[in-house]
Amino acid sequence: MAARPPSHPTTDEGSIPFTRSSVPRGLRLAARSRCRIDPRLKLAILSRNTKLYSTRRLLEAARARGHQVRVLDPLRCYMRIAPDDFALHYRGRALRGIDAVIPRIGTTITFYGTAVLRQMELMGAYTPNGADAILKARDKLRCLQLLAVAGLPLPCTAFGDNPDDTADLLSLLGEPPHVIKLNEGTQGQGVVLAEKRSSSQSVIEAFRGLYANFLVQEFIAEANGCDLRCFVVGGRVIAAMQRCAQPGEFRANLHRGGNAVAVKLSAAERRLALHAAATLGLEVAGVDLIRSARGPLLLEVNASPGLEGIEAASGVDVAGAIIALIERHLRRRRAR
Ligand code: ADP
Ligand code: MG
Repeated sequence: MAARPPSHPTTDEGSIPFTRSSVPRGLRLAARSRCRIDPRLKLAILSRNTKLYSTRRLLEAARARGHQVRVLDPLRCYMRIAPDDFALHYRGRALRGIDAVIPRIGTTITFYGTAVLRQMELMGAYTPNGADAILKARDKLRCLQLLAVAGLPLPCTAFGDNPDDTADLLSLLGEPPHVIKLNEGTQGQGVVLAEKRSSSQSVIEAFRGLYANFLVQEFIAEANGCDLRCFVVGGRVIAAMQRCAQPGEFRANLHRGGNAVAVKLSAAERRLALHAAATLGLEVAGVDLIRSARGPLLLEVNASPGLEGIEAASGVDVAGAIIALIERHLRRRRAR
């Protein structure tokens, strides 16, 4: 089944204003199954926009399982920090007793959003993705360094600061083409293919002129403009899709016009995705892999992956699976 490419910007991968009809037909709604946790949970979704597809699906899945759930705009949360005494207020009222929080923090508010999330963690709320894990994933360089030290395969990557070092920096990667990426870019924005050494140098100069941090990578030509999005929830890959770029484009992102279909992963790809999510400490992650001549390589790990593309392509109720993960965790916590 081919997935409809999202048409509006969202969090990491983007999200779409939600309407009933935007829920893919044929989605296998695990959320209909009854929750066996009692009393019902008090959940919060940290998101700037209740109309986004991912936010609405999580809200709907939590309600379908009988939980009390609300969407909180992270920028309207404010906090008091005192020794062993943490308070969080929202639009003039104290927030208390939240059992779990689902962060959907966009890349433009990473700093403030993760501060709010950390405050909720300090106040005892469970979250599948903690503030520190999100920060690790969002900085591409830091993320790749952590994956590399865990021995996980990735495209050869270089990083540098001084213009005098550009020629030698590029020689660390070998012959062009090279892919140059903004360190905190998303949705394929700021990912550029440079076919010749001179174009790599020009793009690097342009990024430096904008004071932007960037990475340079070997180009995996044999992927033919396709990548794999593996959706990890609680130590399992629950859904996967292959995304392929439109003709004339090398970026497979759905926001760049890519097309998605459900895909069966090999055991090695599955293991790699799980290992990457675990390395960063994320219980919910969109792990992007690329198929290369030397096996699967990690491109990035998204801590706030969009639900629309993956639910449409795979037919899996990803939102329901995230709520079920939270229930499992809190059931164990309460049993202790
Ligand atoms: P973003 O965070 O903007 O999605 P990615 O690193 O995931 O950035 O790159 C966007 C897309 O560009 C990928 O989905 C993939 O299709 C393509 N791409 C990225 N890096 C490479 C590479 N080294 N070789 C080939 N294609 C790449
Ligand atoms: Mg990506």
